[in-house]
Amino acid sequence: MIANVHDRRSVEKIYLREAFDFDAGINSRRARRARLAASASGHATRAEEGFVKDMREHRIAAIPADGIGKEVIAAGLEVMQAVEARDGGFRLAVETFPWGSDYYRKHGVMMAADGLAALRNFDAIYFGAVGDKDIPDHVTLWGLRLPICQGFDQYANLRPTRILPGIKSPLAGRGPADLDWVIIRENSEGEYAGNGGRVHRGLPEEVATETAIFTRVGVERIMRFAFDVARSRPRRLLTVVTKSNAQRHGMVFWDEIAALVGKDYPEVTVDKELVDAMTTRMVLKPETIDTVVATNLHADILSDLAAALAGSLGIAPTANLDPSRRFPSMFEPIHGSAFDIAGKGIANPIATFWTGALMLDHLGEKDAASRLMRAIERVTASGIATPDLGGRATTREVTAAVCDALRSANT
Ligand code: ATP
Repeated sequence: MIANVHDRRSVEKIYLREAFDFDAGINSRRARRARLAASASGHATRAEEGFVKDMREHRIAAIPADGIGKEVIAAGLEVMQAVEARDGGFRLAVETFPWGSDYYRKHGVMMAADGLAALRNFDAIYFGAVGDKDIPDHVTLWGLRLPICQGFDQYANLRPTRILPGIKSPLAGRGPADLDWVIIRENSEGEYAGNGGRVHRGLPEEVATETAIFTRVGVERIMRFAFDVARSRPRRLLTVVTKSNAQRHGMVFWDEIAALVGKDYPEVTVDKELVDAMTTRMVLKPETIDTVVATNLHADILSDLAAALAGSLGIAPTANLDPSRRFPSMFEPIHGSAFDIAGKGIANPIATFWTGALMLDHLGEKDAASRLMRAIERVTASGIATPDLGGRATTREVTAAVCDALRSANT
């Protein structure tokens, strides 16, 4: 249908064409204006008006940012366009923001001063990666990604991990049936709260503090979120990761609140694991794990391990969610900007595609999300893979294969 509208030559259809012009990356305010103008001008046919009205629209802010972020978000938007065309029931109005390290070099800041206000009215954010060889990591991270996560109270970080069909795990003899996890990371406080400082800078007596913050509200809401996820999965099993043997304040508090919240979820089986023991369990007994909840720091580390065990950092997705939906949530691959391969055209885009499926699911496009996952799995099963997975395909080839799988899907 999009193609039909695009193909019309008559001048009076220009308004409508603008409303559907995904490639131009226009924002939906402009799209809405265009649709209203088309309708008001009487130039849209009745059928087209009906089509326009019935179309669900989701506003997406794309922030490719740095390194391979640029490559994988471009690939992700191409796949999103194929999903949209295949589905026919919704439209993504995408606006791309130029923020990141190049922006920093020009303007001295990672994002515009009114950046959060600009993002506020989007339905979701599709994010690439931050990190640059010449700019310290804490500047890039605290200049772009963390202000968005914290400013929009995206307190729940969801990290599904599976061994996808056709992908070889570094765990000998393990396959898709052995590893199907969801790691939930507390994303708003804990060790990454940013609470601390440095005094006597540069002097021998210099002191630096980095104090973890655990609040009752913060811990309780992530626990409820984790129990909800665990309950929605067939095994109804939640592992609470802790370090309460050594950290006797924050982590004991964490455990107590987990036990308290658990009383409201009698159908969920809970077990507790120290973070160090969790690493060995993930490697040696992956089949004993289902849903995992951990602090900001612990889950950050565990989920990189999880991604590696599932085959590559290049396939691991994540969603930074504001479950209250007051603010837009942000969807990004777990990996960083990977300067070692940036610009070579070989970045694995699968993490970004899977992230896109999480975004579609969050936007209520469940069928489209499932269809995209099936297309991704068809491609991984077929052996088309980038070098990080032992293959020889380029980012472009994997992207084209997923788009083809979407176009040829029966359901
Ligand atoms: P950050 O600090 O932002 O997590 P990092 O430098 O620790 O970043 P990455 O940038 O994610 O880590 O890269 C780690 C390694 O994984 C690199 O060797 C990189 O090439 C590889 N890698 C990461 N993402 C991908 C991808 N999508 N495709 C292929 N290889 C990847």
